Amino acid sequence: MPSYLDLTNQEITSKITRLELEYEKIKELDLRLNMTRGKPCAAQLDLVRGMQTCLADDDYLAEDGTDCRNYGGLEGIFEMRRLFAQMLQTKPESVFVAGNSSLNLMYDTIIRCLLFPLPGQTRAWSRQEGPLRFICPVPGYDRHFYICETLGIEMLTVPMTEEGPDMDLVEELVAADPAIKGMWLVPVYSNPDGFTCSEDTCRRLAAMQTAAPDFRLFWDNAYAVHHLYPDQAQGTADILSLCAAAGQPDRVFEFASTSKITWPSSGVACVAASPANLAFIQKHMAAQTIGPDKMVQLRHARFLRDLETIKQLMLGHAAIMRPKFDLVQECLSRNLDGLGICHWHQPRGGYFYSLFVLPGTAREVVRLAGELGVELTPAGSTWPGKKDPSDSNIRLAPSFPTLAELAQAMEAVCLCIKLAALRQLAGRS
Ligand code: PLP
Repeated sequence: MPSYLDLTNQEITSKITRLELEYEKIKELDLRLNMTRGKPCAAQLDLVRGMQTCLADDDYLAEDGTDCRNYGGLEGIFEMRRLFAQMLQTKPESVFVAGNSSLNLMYDTIIRCLLFPLPGQTRAWSRQEGPLRFICPVPGYDRHFYICETLGIEMLTVPMTEEGPDMDLVEELVAADPAIKGMWLVPVYSNPDGFTCSEDTCRRLAAMQTAAPDFRLFWDNAYAVHHLYPDQAQGTADILSLCAAAGQPDRVFEFASTSKITWPSSGVACVAASPANLAFIQKHMAAQTIGPDKMVQLRHARFLRDLETIKQLMLGHAAIMRPKFDLVQECLSRNLDGLGICHWHQPRGGYFYSLFVLPGTAREVVRLAGELGVELTPAGSTWPGKKDPSDSNIRLAPSFPTLAELAQAMEAVCLCIKLAALRQLAGRS
C-alpha cells in the first residue's frame, strides 16, 4: 500500500470521507469491547480448575512437616521457594514466597528502602538530602510508574530497545547521579513491547558503576515462562548470579508471581535476592505479618509440582493466547503495512502489543476507538505521569476478549489509526 505520507491533499480528503462512512457503520454495531488490561480470559482461568480440588481435607503439611494452616514461615514453604527458583534459575534459599501480588511486594520493598537503611548503609533513601530518582525504560508498565508517582520518586525515562533499555544512557545516568536509587525493568517479554533483554544488557546492568551505593534494580520477571511460541522461547540468565559475579551481589530485587499461570486473584508471588537483601526484607516484614497464606502456597505446590508441569500448563495458555496475538498481527499487517503511520514489534511472549502510531495521534486514536465502544488503555499510560511526549504509543491487551470480539475490535482500532493519521495529515485535528 502507498504510504499515507505521499498522498496528495485530494487523495487524503477522499480517503477520510470513505473511512468516516466506515466509522459510522461500526458505530451502529454498538460494540462493547475492552482491551485495557492484561487479564487472562475465562478459558485460561479454567485451565487450572483442579486448583479447587487438589488439596484433600487432610492435606495441610508441607514437605518439612510445617502445618500450613498455622502461623509462621515468613519466607514461604520450601516447595514453593524451590518452584520459583526453578522458574527464575536461582537457588530456593534466594527466594521468599509471599501473597498473591508481586506488585504488592515491589511496593513494600520500595517502602522499606525509603524507611530503613539498606544493607551496609546508615541512612534510608528518604533520610538523604535532595530528590530520589528511578530510571524508567519507556514505554513501560504504568503501575511501576504509579508506585513512583505515589511515593514522590522522580522518574527519568530511557528508551527501550529490542535489546532492553538503552544501556549507554543508563550507565551514564547512574554513574553521574547519586539521587538515582533504582531502576524498573521487565527483562523478559517487556510490558508493553514484548522485548527481552540481551545477555550483553544483563551483564552491563549487573556490572555498571552507580553513584548511589544503595542503588537497586527492580527486576520484574513477570513473564519469565509466558512464551507464546514455545519453539522461539526467550529468556535471560539468572540476574542474581550475574550481579554476584560482577561484584554487586546486592544490586537486584527480582520479582515474579503465578498471577498469569494460575489465578491472579489467588496466586503466589515471590521476591528473590542476595542473603543480605533477604535479611533486610525479613527483618522488616517480620513487623508487618506473622506469615503468608501457606495453604494457597501448598495448593500451588501440589498443583504445579515442578517446572515441567508449569511448562506444560504454559503450553495450554499459549494455545489460547497465540491465536489472539496472531489475529492482532494479521489485522495490523493487512490494514497498516506500508502506510508509514504505524509500526510495532511482534511479541513472542507476554501479554501485550505496543503500537507506535503517527506522532500526535495516539490520544485521538484511543478517543475514536472509545466512541466505537472499543476501550483501549489510555494513551500516555506507558510513560511516567501518563505523558508520552510524542503522543504515539498505544498498548493493546488482546488476552481478555474472545477471538470474535478481538477481530471486531482490531478492525475498529486499525480504522481509527488510519482516520486519526489522515485527519492530522490534512491539518484537521
Ligand atoms: N508486573 C508486570 C510487568 C505486569 O505486567 C503485571 C500485570 O500485568 C504485574 C507485574 C502484576 O503482577 P501481580 O499480579 O503479581 O501483582
